Amino acid sequence: MIPLSVPNFEGNEKKYVDEAIDATWVSTGGAFITRLEENLADFLYAEGVAACQSGTAAIHLSLIDAGVGFGDVVIVPTLTFIAAVNPVRYLGAEPVFMDCDDSLCMDSVKLKEFCEKECVVADGVLRFHGKPVKAVVVVHVFGNLADMESIMEIAEQYRLKVVEDATEALGTFYAEGKYAGKYAGTIGDYGAFSFNGNKIITTGGGGAVTAHHKETVDHMRYLSTQAKDDAQYYVHNEVGYNYRMTNLQAALGVAQLEELPEFIRRKQQNYALYRELLQDCGAVELLGFRKGTASNKWFYSVVLDAQKCGKTVREVIEALQQEGVQSRAIWGLIHRQKPYADAVAYRIERAEYYSERVVNIPCSTNLTAEEIRYVAEKIKLVTG
Ligand SMILES: *Cc1c(COP(=O)(O)O)cnc(C)c1O
Repeated sequence: MIPLSVPNFEGNEKKYVDEAIDATWVSTGGAFITRLEENLADFLYAEGVAACQSGTAAIHLSLIDAGVGFGDVVIVPTLTFIAAVNPVRYLGAEPVFMDCDDSLCMDSVKLKEFCEKECVVADGVLRFHGKPVKAVVVVHVFGNLADMESIMEIAEQYRLKVVEDATEALGTFYAEGKYAGKYAGTIGDYGAFSFNGNKIITTGGGGAVTAHHKETVDHMRYLSTQAKDDAQYYVHNEVGYNYRMTNLQAALGVAQLEELPEFIRRKQQNYALYRELLQDCGAVELLGFRKGTASNKWFYSVVLDAQKCGKTVREVIEALQQEGVQSRAIWGLIHRQKPYADAVAYRIERAEYYSERVVNIPCSTNLTAEEIRYVAEKIKLVTG
C-alpha cells in the first residue's frame, strides 16, 4: 500500500530527542523550544514566533489577541479543515462562511461583496446584523496561497484583523507582486502553523504562531503558559491556557526544520512528475498553485472531470484502495457540519463543486519516482 502521507525522519530527530531526554528537559521549558522559535522566526523573516501545542491553539491564541469575543463575527472559509473554524466558537463568536476560488482558498471577490452588500459600517466598525465583524481567518489550502493582495486591501478598508491559517503552507511564499518574498503566515496580522503528523514538518503534534510585532508574539506566548506573570509566586493577570509546546516536541521540530528546504524540494519535484504523468489524462486534472507564488506543494489534488470521469469521489477512493493506493476526499464543507448548521453561509458555489470532485493523492517526501508512476497509472486506470 502506498500511503497518502507519512512523516520523514532522516535527519537529527533521534539525536535531538535523546539530548532532551538526557538533559531531563522534556516538558514546557527547555533550550529546544527557544531554538525552534528562533530558527523558525529566522526562516520566515519574522519578528518572533511562539511555539505551542497545535495549529488549532495557534489560531485560538491569534483570535484572542485580536480581541475577538462573545457576539463578534469572524469570516471563515467553508472549504477547510474544521480546526480553522472551531476557535471562533471557543470564544463565543459567530462564523460567517465564505466560498472558495479556483485555488481552493477564500474567494476575495465574494469577501468584498459580502462586506459591501451585507454589512454596514457604523462608527468605523463593520457590522453584520448589528454584530461587529472583527476578523477573517484565511486558510492557505494544501500549500497554496490565498489572494492576499485583495484580502489585505479589504481588511484594511474595513479594519478587520487577518489571521492566516498557514498550517499547510509553511515555506510557501510570493515570488511576485506587492508581497514578493513574503512567506505565508507573515502577511496578515497573525500567522498560524501546525506540526501535526501529516504536515510538511512534524513534532508529533504541535504548532506555532507569529505576528508583526514582538510584543504581540510575547503576549500569545504568555497566554500559552497559563498567563503566568511571576513564575515563583504564581501571579496571573489574564486567563491563560496550557498551550505551550514541550521541549521533546521542539527537539523533533528543530531537526525537522533543518530538513524543510529538502522536503520542499522533494514535494516540488514529485509534483512535477505527477504533472507530467497526468497531463494527458482527460478524466482528472492535477490542480495547480496560484500564479506568482512559490508553493511548498504540500498536498496534491486531482479534480475529477464531471463528464469524463464516471465515478464519484468515494468510488475513486475505493478503487484506488483496491489497487494499493491510499487517497482521501477533501473536507466536508464546514457550514454543513452539525455544530455550524445554523451559521450564515454566503453564496457558497465553487466550494460545493470542489468538495464533490477533489481527491488527494500520495504526497510523502520519501515517494520514489517508481511509486509516483504506479500511482499515476492507477489513477488513469480507475478514472478511465
Ligand atoms: C492541520 C490543520 C489545522 C490544525 O492544526 P493542528 O495542529 O492539527 O491543530 C488547522 N487548519 C488546517 C487547514 C489544517 O490543515
